[in-house]
Amino acid sequence: MTALPLPAGFEDRLRQLLGQAHVKSGDALDAIDPGWNRNNLKSGLLALPGSTEEVASLVRLCREAGVSIVPQGGRTGLVGGSVSAPGQLVVSTARLNAVERLDPIERTVTAGAGASLQSVQEAAAAHGLEPGIDLPSRGTATIGGMISTNAGGIMAFRNGVMRHRILGLEAVLPDGTVMSDCTRVVKTAAGYDLKHLVIGAEGTLGIVTRAVLKLDPLPQASATALFGLPSVEAVLEVIQLALALPGVTLRAAEAMWRPFLDLTAEALGWRSEAIDRSAPVYGLLSIGGAEDASLPAAFETLFETVLERFPQATGLIAQSSRQERELWRLREDTDLVYHAYPAAPSFDVSLPQSEIPAYLGRLLPELARIDGAFEPLIFGHLADGNLHIILNRPGPLEPDVAAKVETAVYRDIRERGGSFSAEHGVGSQRIGPLEATADPGKLALIRLVKASLDPHGTMNPGVIVRR
Ligand SMILES: Cc1cc2nc3c(=O)[nH]c(=O)nc-3n(C[C@H](O)[C@H](O)[C@H](O)COP(=O)(O)OP(=O)(O)OC[C@H]3O[C@@H](n4cnc5c(N)ncnc54)[C@H](O)[C@@H]3O)c2cc1C
Repeated sequence: MTALPLPAGFEDRLRQLLGQAHVKSGDALDAIDPGWNRNNLKSGLLALPGSTEEVASLVRLCREAGVSIVPQGGRTGLVGGSVSAPGQLVVSTARLNAVERLDPIERTVTAGAGASLQSVQEAAAAHGLEPGIDLPSRGTATIGGMISTNAGGIMAFRNGVMRHRILGLEAVLPDGTVMSDCTRVVKTAAGYDLKHLVIGAEGTLGIVTRAVLKLDPLPQASATALFGLPSVEAVLEVIQLALALPGVTLRAAEAMWRPFLDLTAEALGWRSEAIDRSAPVYGLLSIGGAEDASLPAAFETLFETVLERFPQATGLIAQSSRQERELWRLREDTDLVYHAYPAAPSFDVSLPQSEIPAYLGRLLPELARIDGAFEPLIFGHLADGNLHIILNRPGPLEPDVAAKVETAVYRDIRERGGSFSAEHGVGSQRIGPLEATADPGKLALIRLVKASLDPHGTMNPGVIVRR
């Protein structure tokens, strides 16, 4: 299917189907924020279906008319998975945003694909529960987008990624069939578990319309601390110590290398006497428990042990929820990096913990050999082995430099048992690394699945699989 101008009469038929107010083009479309990729709304036409039936009808309309579809949720995706071009139709899930059913006894929530993560978190918190997954983009990222990218985030080391939080799912397939598998149980051994084909498919196999998520108890109290440590090995060891703390739960264990912390701290005007700012790596840890009083004491006990192991360590335990938020902003305000280095080349890799020191020990000198002024900004969800690596350079790089950097970042990821894309997906921007690092058998099966379910290339062409 090619991205040519829309067939005559297509937009009128769409408007008849959904109503004038729910089809946007021209000025009405220009008023919509394109999100993290300025090409997201380049199609010039956006549909806002209000029900699964409307999604199915418009998918059939597109298929008949030979128009390809780009599904969009919150447009916070970072790998060009929802970029569109003239001749395509953007299908937004913004109207499918209801938190439909929350059962605090069975601990499940059913939500429309367009519900933001934060709206689900807030609905769950009212019952002392949480969806067990959390991302800095929580206010905008949608349940459907998170399913489609198999999002990971802060709590993945404990609770798994989006795939592990989903009990049931409804999606409209490329031929307009509605696959409704909204079970609300953990156990279902009823043949192929097809929802897992759609999870992580980035809109290439259908449009997710609704999902059932597991909920977990939300701890009544939480505390956060920042540790300055001598090495990544030390941060990994501190995570193990924190996991073993009695009576509390480790909820987050993030790492920030000094160049990254320097940049966000500088931009936010943050400083603290308690933290030595010359440490090479910092660990940001949050713990949860039954009551506020015991949590700082747990961190103090941890810090005493850390000092025995690493006498040069420094630490700061947040004394108020305001201080806790300030510490988290140092880690979560990653857009500050892109303000400093617009379109900076960025990577999202994961490695088994035991491989991280050796991987960085190889990569950092190699990047310095490519360009002595590279000082990568590294941070990430260290407890699950996920590193975000952003170069201190506006993008795009010169093609030959970009190729050398990619080779350096990805070269041994597969042999080390990791992934070139930890949590952001493949999108349109990471097909090259997928083809370079995937097992040929797996790659062939990906193409076979796409060709079987979407033979006309209706759904998000050019994402994961080349057109
Ligand atoms: C500041 C910031 C921090 C972030 N932190 C994290 C993080 O910690 N962990 C993480 O995993 N990601 C993170 N992300 C990336 C992003 O938020 C996630 O990928 C998120 O899952 C995307 O959700 P979305 O609703 O914005 O999807 P979109 O960006 O709209 O779409 C993403 C992909 O999913 C497809 N899609 C969207 N909705 C549907 C649907 N209903 N059916 C089928 N396909 C659909 C799109 O076609 C596209 O391919 C971060 C992004 C930002 C901007």
